[in-house]
Amino acid sequence: MALVDVVLGVDIGGTNTVFGYVDKEGKCLHEASMLTNGDEPAELFFERFYAAESAIFEGLKHRCRVLGIGIGAPNANYYCGTIEQPPNLKWGFVNVVQEMKKYYDVPVALTNDANAAAIGEMVFGAAKGMKNFIVITLGTGLGSGIVANGQIVYGADGFAGEIGHTTYDPAGRDCGCGRKGCLEAYASATGIRRTVCELLALRTGASELRAVSLNDLTAKMISEAARRGDTIALEAFEMTGEILGLKLADSVAHTSPEAIILFGGLAAAGDLLFIPTQRSLEKHLFPIFRNKVKLLPSGLPLGNAAVLGSSALMWNELRK
Ligand SMILES: [Zn+2]
Repeated sequence: MALVDVVLGVDIGGTNTVFGYVDKEGKCLHEASMLTNGDEPAELFFERFYAAESAIFEGLKHRCRVLGIGIGAPNANYYCGTIEQPPNLKWGFVNVVQEMKKYYDVPVALTNDANAAAIGEMVFGAAKGMKNFIVITLGTGLGSGIVANGQIVYGADGFAGEIGHTTYDPAGRDCGCGRKGCLEAYASATGIRRTVCELLALRTGASELRAVSLNDLTAKMISEAARRGDTIALEAFEMTGEILGLKLADSVAHTSPEAIILFGGLAAAGDLLFIPTQRSLEKHLFPIFRNKVKLLPSGLPLGNAAVLGSSALMWNELRK
């Protein structure tokens, strides 16, 4: 039986690292996960990764052949193959490609997690066939990957496409990055929680969210409350969409994308977020761009999305 060609896709996260073997059609043959243990030195992580991965590959080697490795990670630099001061990992500055090359004799490429999501959409998901689009990942923070003329925009230093840290309100909320009023402080799972807290203080109306303590409040609870008609939760989604649409209108002016794809936990709220975002986007667009930009949900299955994105990075390299 002929071996199936696959790419090993790896998503290094703050808590877990997920990896899987993906064929060129985007089918994930096997997926596994391990603790990242970001407090330990990076070298130990790569040692543990190789042990875990080779144990699993032992059972697959009669079926497939690994052509390369694609890795998505926070603060990753595609040009240098490095991760630089990632939040949640006490690794400092690590050359990931070099570390992986100690164990593997195949091509290795690295990019940040939002860019991996964008390449994943381009190769396997909602942006198949598109050459100009933006992917916004709405999780704890707001990540973004910009594709222009068929290429990820990396910029001079490899860090281009940080829409989450463009300014919505210069006198606004503190952002984790040290600045004030970044889009991420409003349009993210954390941002919408902060919005709910502000609205609860501002409004006197009943809301099921009044009974939830701030520490326990999640974006999922907010979307569930909104679906039940909770006015505070609905207003929070309206505000989030309004702010997101306004800032996306700026991004459209920079690259004129065919579509903007919303990805991640908060995007799973569906119409609750998409309708106000689309409305605000159209309202704030420079007129020549109006009624042209599609706002789409991710086309990647939520469970495998990170691994598909990382593997797509390498599939895309191999096709070059
Ligand atoms: Zn910021």
